[in-house]
Amino acid sequence: MQPVQGYAIMKKTQQKGQNRMAKQEYELFSMGGFQTVGKMSLAVEPLLAWYRQSARVLPWRSDPTPYHVWLSEIMLQQTRVEAVIPYYHRFLDALPDIPSLAEADEEQLHKLWEGLGYYSRVRNLKKAAAQVVQQYNGMLPPSYELLLELCGIGEYTAGAIASIAFGIPVPAVDGNVLRVVSRLLASEADIAKPQVKSGCRSLLAQVIPQEQPGNFNQAMMELGATVCLPNGTPKCGTCPLSFCCDGFQQGNPMLYPVKAEKKPRKIEAKTIFLIRTPNGVLLRKRPDSGLLAGLWEFPNADGQLDRQAAVRWLEQHGIHPKKLMSLKPAKHIFTHVEWQMTGYLAECSGVSLQPDEVLADTDAMKQSYSVPSAFAAYKGLLFGNTRENAAGK
Ligand code: SF4
Repeated sequence: MQPVQGYAIMKKTQQKGQNRMAKQEYELFSMGGFQTVGKMSLAVEPLLAWYRQSARVLPWRSDPTPYHVWLSEIMLQQTRVEAVIPYYHRFLDALPDIPSLAEADEEQLHKLWEGLGYYSRVRNLKKAAAQVVQQYNGMLPPSYELLLELCGIGEYTAGAIASIAFGIPVPAVDGNVLRVVSRLLASEADIAKPQVKSGCRSLLAQVIPQEQPGNFNQAMMELGATVCLPNGTPKCGTCPLSFCCDGFQQGNPMLYPVKAEKKPRKIEAKTIFLIRTPNGVLLRKRPDSGLLAGLWEFPNADGQLDRQAAVRWLEQHGIHPKKLMSLKPAKHIFTHVEWQMTGYLAECSGVSLQPDEVLADTDAMKQSYSVPSAFAAYKGLLFGNTRENAAGK
């Protein structure tokens, strides 16, 4: 009897837990139960007051035109504010408005984006700029729904542009906002689920102030970025919302947000070849689709090739180095893949070029060819001290 009873109790407890979760998801991230909306409403005024006093001075905030907000939001995806600022200025100096962005050629865009990563963002910017020129006379439409139809603009970015640049009261829910709301409400809803994210959006839509929706959205993001921190302990002692924060009041805000574990990244081994000639280093253009599409790379092979295999690979490609030097290993982490690289420096008197290859000296690499940061460890050798970085031989 005992095990059966134990099982029944366990099932009952599980069921209770599931019901509680479902109820929480409904209350916290669905259309907002009365209590949930009430609690979020309490946060609005203190949050806005805090933002007025504590907002960081950022270039896109001082002149929030629709183009500036759009560009900054796209650049800020997956990238820190400090890293974005110089890119933002450089990009606007070169392409000050949407029509100039629509006209820009791909090499220029890649060069302006070099080092920011996720290059599909800038290609989508250009595509969307062309749509805006064609359909809206070069000006972003003041409508959340129409913004959503533009290439590369999802719910978050459409919400940010609509609220900040046009004063339309729609939420903008990114990872920062999800974290703050989860902690405020001590929500056990899994923020990796799309329905939880849309539930959060629905909830915030009920409390976003009609008069200053842009400030509200920015205040939520700012609190998430500077106080309710993603990695490390949140600064609850200085938080304007600690008075109504369930996570804080229960004593362990870091339990939230709940997020299902991601699948581990796929590991790929690569061998990178710096093929140096008196006329420059060999660069190869990557295919137009897939990872790092359309960018320039150092020739490379799948797998970690030992010296003998590296010589064979070079010979198969018609390259006969006078000298071959091993380089230190390096790695680069993409969202779903990690490259574990080894490398060789091949000194050659000359090479015959394929149609998708060029020889580039360091000036040409600086000015014209974007080699993505996945190759930074090897590219750095061409601009620095090769001997220090070489592994010998
Ligand atoms: S009190 Fe702490 S956990 Fe709650 S919102 Fe503020 S920083 Fe985040």
